[in-house]
Amino acid sequence: MLASCSLNGHVPTVTDSRYDVIIIGGGAVGLGVALEITRRFPRQRLLLLEKEERVAFHQSGHNSGVIHSGVYYKPGSLKAKLCVTGAAAMVEFCREHGIPHNVCGKVIVATQEDELPRLEELKKRGEANGLTGLRLIGLEELREIEPHATGLQALVVPSTGVTDYALVCEKYAELVQAAGGTVLTSAGAGAIKRTSTEITVETSKGAFTTRALINCAGLHSDRISRMAGDDPNVMIVPFRGEYYDLIPERASLVRALIYPVPDPRFPFLGVHFTRRITGKVDAGPNAILALAREGYRHSDINMPDLAASLTFSGFWKMAAKHWRNGLGEWHRSLWKPAFVRALQRLLPEVTEKDFVPGGSGVRAQALKPDGALVDDFQFVPSGKVLHVLNVPSPAATASLMIGKTIVDMAAASLELS
Ligand SMILES: Cc1cc2nc3c(=O)[nH]c(=O)nc-3n(C[C@H](O)[C@H](O)[C@H](O)COP(=O)(O)OP(=O)(O)OC[C@H]3O[C@@H](n4cnc5c(N)ncnc54)[C@H](O)[C@@H]3O)c2cc1C
Repeated sequence: MLASCSLNGHVPTVTDSRYDVIIIGGGAVGLGVALEITRRFPRQRLLLLEKEERVAFHQSGHNSGVIHSGVYYKPGSLKAKLCVTGAAAMVEFCREHGIPHNVCGKVIVATQEDELPRLEELKKRGEANGLTGLRLIGLEELREIEPHATGLQALVVPSTGVTDYALVCEKYAELVQAAGGTVLTSAGAGAIKRTSTEITVETSKGAFTTRALINCAGLHSDRISRMAGDDPNVMIVPFRGEYYDLIPERASLVRALIYPVPDPRFPFLGVHFTRRITGKVDAGPNAILALAREGYRHSDINMPDLAASLTFSGFWKMAAKHWRNGLGEWHRSLWKPAFVRALQRLLPEVTEKDFVPGGSGVRAQALKPDGALVDDFQFVPSGKVLHVLNVPSPAATASLMIGKTIVDMAAASLELS
């Protein structure tokens, strides 16, 4: 067996086809797990397979770059625990490895009366999750922090930051390789065969055999689960998030991060302003149903992906529940004035001409057959296989802690020690 691995121009040769553990997916989660395994079990022969030509090609390289604090998530949930500890670990990782980052803090702004109790609730949640320094402030103090923002009241979240998760992932991959693991790009898993003693993953770069498999395939994790002979019992629904960029001449309107109070019925945070680590300011992301799992534009339509969505019973139940909100998201996506109007609630000075189309990303959101969106992170063991089936935001923030948690949970069953 001979296959080649390319990462950052480094092209080692893979001569082995037998591994102790194979990870499918070179995003923040797969790489976070790989890093933890190489740190804790350096003797394990580890192979990470990524179908694209580089790591962080999908969600992990197409996100807002925010190091979330953990203020939003239900106390006791995995999201809450792993985000709070993960944010601190992420800041430390960036500091240790010279990755640009800035703990700039953020404000969540209530602009309508009915949002005030939800803002107070968020503060309580954040405190229950162990955050410190949360403060409710009035307009005057808000203006000292963000001089152009407006609102009735705001919550200051000092521990939020920004970084570049593509750079974080490249560093994870570099460290995994330096510790003896192999990261093989352009090697999509196309078939999985399981016997009682071993698992074989067939890729475009050959077949690899392993004792244990970890599925971190993001937008395709339900498919990989089925490929491995399991029933994921969820379907991954792709929700595209589109951004507008604030033109450089107007970027000074935003100092750091300005968010609305999220609608508790949805797992998304509402369009907001983010000053990225590069200094660029963008607005978004919205959340519209994508017509392809890797559909970054309106014109990206994948019939098998669409058919999979439309034939899943949970899809229609979700549509019946959320159609009104979904139409609103489409309206804002197709009609810039509507998108800008949502942003003017936070920053009244912005106008349509201040924005140019920016990038987009596609979120992998697991949907249950009853039409409910899976809220928490979901890791599902199946013998010598572990499926990571729901790791939406804040999974980039939490990726180091997700790695630790998965290894804690599965080291014995996957015989990693
Ligand atoms: C618009 C947007 C904004 C976001 N903002 C934030 C934020 O500010 N902060 C934050 O913490 N989180 C944010 N998130 C969430 C975060 O980006 C994701 O939760 C995280 O990146 C998930 O990582 P992952 O490794 O599971 O997925 P991915 O990064 O998608 O990685 C999965 C990988 O699996 C590979 N793969 C799939 N199938 C196969 C196969 N058959 N064989 C081999 N490889 C395969 C894919 O190519 C991909 O590289 C955001 C997400 C989006 C989309």
